Amino acid sequence: MSVYQEINSIFALMDAVCIKVNTEYNICEYAYYKGNLLSENTPYAAMLTKCSELFGVEISRFHNEDIKAWLNNSMVEEYVVALNDGSGNKKTIAALKAKLDSVHYMVFVENLEDKRYLYELVDPLTNLYQKAAFDKYVNTSIKEAKPFTLGALDIDNFKSINDTYGQMVGYQVLEAVADILKRNLTNGLVARFGADDFMFVYYGSTDYQDVWNVLYKITHEINDIGSKFDMPLDVSATIGISRYGIDGNDYDTLIQNADKALFRGKRKGKNCFIIYDAEKHKNITLDGIRKAFVEEGSGNYNVFRTLVYIFDILNSAKESQEILDGITELLINIFDVDRAIIYHEDTDHREKPLSQAFRELTKSENMPLNPMLSDVWEKHYNNGICSIQNVSNLKGAYDALYDELSSQGIQSIVRVPIEYKKTRIGALELSCFKHHDWSIAENNLLVLVGGLLSVALYKIHENIYMEHQASTDELTGLVNYTRFVDLATSRLNKSNKKMIGYSWNFERFKNINDKLGFVVGNFILKRFATILRKIFSNGIVSRVSSDRFVVLDYYDTDFDIRNKFEGVMYEISFIDYEGVNISNLITLSCGAYVTDGTENVISIIIDRANLARASLGHIYKSDMAIFTLDMQEKLNKAQEIETHFADALKNNEFKLYVQPKIDIETGKLIGAEALSRWLYKNERLLPPFEYIPRLESTGLILELDIYMFEQLCKNIRLTFDGKYKGHVPVSINLSRNQSDFEGYINKLESIRKKYDIPASLIEIEITESTFTENVMEIKKLINYIHKLGYKVAMDDFGSGYSNLSALVECGFDIIKIDKSLCAEDEHDKRNYILDAVINMCKKMGMSVICEGVETSLQASNLLRLGCRSAQGYLYDKPLPVNDFINKYMQEEV
Ligand code: C2E
Ligand code: MG
Ligand code: MG
Repeated sequence: MSVYQEINSIFALMDAVCIKVNTEYNICEYAYYKGNLLSENTPYAAMLTKCSELFGVEISRFHNEDIKAWLNNSMVEEYVVALNDGSGNKKTIAALKAKLDSVHYMVFVENLEDKRYLYELVDPLTNLYQKAAFDKYVNTSIKEAKPFTLGALDIDNFKSINDTYGQMVGYQVLEAVADILKRNLTNGLVARFGADDFMFVYYGSTDYQDVWNVLYKITHEINDIGSKFDMPLDVSATIGISRYGIDGNDYDTLIQNADKALFRGKRKGKNCFIIYDAEKHKNITLDGIRKAFVEEGSGNYNVFRTLVYIFDILNSAKESQEILDGITELLINIFDVDRAIIYHEDTDHREKPLSQAFRELTKSENMPLNPMLSDVWEKHYNNGICSIQNVSNLKGAYDALYDELSSQGIQSIVRVPIEYKKTRIGALELSCFKHHDWSIAENNLLVLVGGLLSVALYKIHENIYMEHQASTDELTGLVNYTRFVDLATSRLNKSNKKMIGYSWNFERFKNINDKLGFVVGNFILKRFATILRKIFSNGIVSRVSSDRFVVLDYYDTDFDIRNKFEGVMYEISFIDYEGVNISNLITLSCGAYVTDGTENVISIIIDRANLARASLGHIYKSDMAIFTLDMQEKLNKAQEIETHFADALKNNEFKLYVQPKIDIETGKLIGAEALSRWLYKNERLLPPFEYIPRLESTGLILELDIYMFEQLCKNIRLTFDGKYKGHVPVSINLSRNQSDFEGYINKLESIRKKYDIPASLIEIEITESTFTENVMEIKKLINYIHKLGYKVAMDDFGSGYSNLSALVECGFDIIKIDKSLCAEDEHDKRNYILDAVINMCKKMGMSVICEGVETSLQASNLLRLGCRSAQGYLYDKPLPVNDFINKYMQEEV
């Protein structure tokens, strides 16, 4: 008896035909009905005639092309039609297919008269009423207790219709479907709930077949929509139906059940309508399956039941793992073997066990499984199956496989590869610890189960894919940071090799978005992700936030780190957008940290890489820095600065220094700048660059500036009281990162008043970088300061990228030219800028002073260009305030 006979005997109890189909020759190789051979090598059409005779129906729609299309559509497992039995009664016939190999299918044709669900190819929809109108309509209908049918409709792949053919086509499709619904459901209401989500309700018979007829007509009309477009448009929809009084008596239940049916339709592969069926939508539990198995005993009928269970397990909304575990457990019992495993095969042909079941539960603990390359099995497959009755036969010819299997204690093994859309995605394996003769029937049945599993495994793939999505950055396809931390941590824990963490950041990425738009910005980020993946092919690459990326890679040599950085830069130099090379817009800063092989806290590794990157500052040319211990020391120092700051203020560790401003021509004092120094713990003097940036970034600078301003006012008061003369305006520095400029100025104002210092003796310096970041704010601020009677200077002009017109607009009184522009030589090109700035200031009525003047050549060059004021070491360095007073101010006698 062939396996098909045997399987068919399973079906003997059912009103079903079991057919082995060959899609290459479009014939039915065997067909069995109730245990008897029905036909051999029959063309589809003849087979259909036979089926129609058997089931007493006319199968006119069952033509060859339909069936061919269905067999080749791997998304659709079932084919259901309602047919006329000749005397006007409808009968429902379902075909169910299972793939055997690339050309063969097992097809079961069943009389489904007792089944309460149907499904048919369908298409899309449009909009009408809002949800509120719909709710009211339905609730009224419930009150009136009129029989009605409720439907939930979802256009399949509507987004891709929009994306492929444009929104206009999308709208036309929506309208066309709405039109069909309106015409067919005149006694009802159609509502649009979301973009492509529709609900409808209509009065009339809720008899299953009547509802079915209505939907059948609608779906067929929807099917035709595509043909009205010039383009090859495939529009489809999935509909879920629930019936008042049958599937629920209240609004919520009806909606829920229609949704369940809709969901089931989608899982079935969309393009269908599903009428809710309580039985069908009940979740099948594994316990239920076990119980059924034990209670009903074994035998062929149970093998069939098992196949049905497998379908049901697959269609239940279970976790993927639970589905597989259910199946392996089932197989152990059906085939009476010691172990069943379902493997997933990845693109590198590595097989990973997804689920394994043992007859003896204790076995599982001491049976670890090594992922194996699927190639090992390749030569053993014969006709889609590898069946080894006696593993010891492998000895000599296939020693590696023999060693592996016998080390697992296996004596007999059978396995089938699982393919989906011609791609190997896994394998199903049964093994015994004792000798076992695999009958041809068993083998063939296993092939069949493998075929059924292909869809399951594919679905699980989809779930894995969805899990993948949850851990993936949508834009770049890289793993997100949470997943990165998981992957990196397990890699760090597994290996004692030295690793290297990278932190990448785009400088001023906001500018790219602002100037060129998000499309270009996103394009660059995507390209960059691809580049990182290419260069760090063995590393874990992730996007942390908008323009920040991290990598964990194996460490080779320091040279290799540089090399990879250069490799990234090289790839970047080719980035072009619509034919224009845009690599010049990209500045990347990169920090790297090399572990010693024992560190396994990824956040520390990334922190250190970040620290290395931060050490680069704001760069204008891409660069990288590797973490060194002194960076850590710096960080520690910076943190120490922060913690010690409050005490430092109390202990008067901050000292006021004053640097004179001089008239170059006369050498006379014309002003001064107040600068701070920190006599840290009263031990060593810290220059501002060691603490100002840190205080700025933490916001503590505000307290320092207030403190220094009070020192300044106190000292000026002392000079007044001490009858000193030669008072000149003194400038103070206003730091960036002041969130509340006005509040800050008001505080200064109250201090000035407290010490009774004329406002004309105070100038406020604002650095160019503050100014460029926030033009409108600065303008407002300057206005405010002017009202109080202080003058305002722009500090460090020329060190950044000022916008001259904005500068003019802001109303500065004084421009302080940065030392970087201060040229000595008459032919120095910087003179062009100096000349222009000096002239502009004169025309605008602004004063101009140059800072950082160190040589008399610089001074005379300035004078020649028309700038008379200077500040710099040529005249004096910043002096402790008392030294300054003694040197530059005279006591009245
Ligand atoms: P700044 O306002 O541009 O101050 C001028 C800087 O140039 C001072 O650096 C000064 O010592 C330095 N300098 C003066 N003449 C020369 C010269 O001939 N050659 C060179 N190479 N440098 C010269 P300092 O005192 O180190 O201060 C650095 C910066 O820190 C200041 O730049 C200022 O922005 C900031 N700063 C200093 N003290 C304070 C403070 O108490 N509060 C705030 N908010 N910022 C301060
Ligand atoms: Mg200054
Ligand atoms: Mg300056």
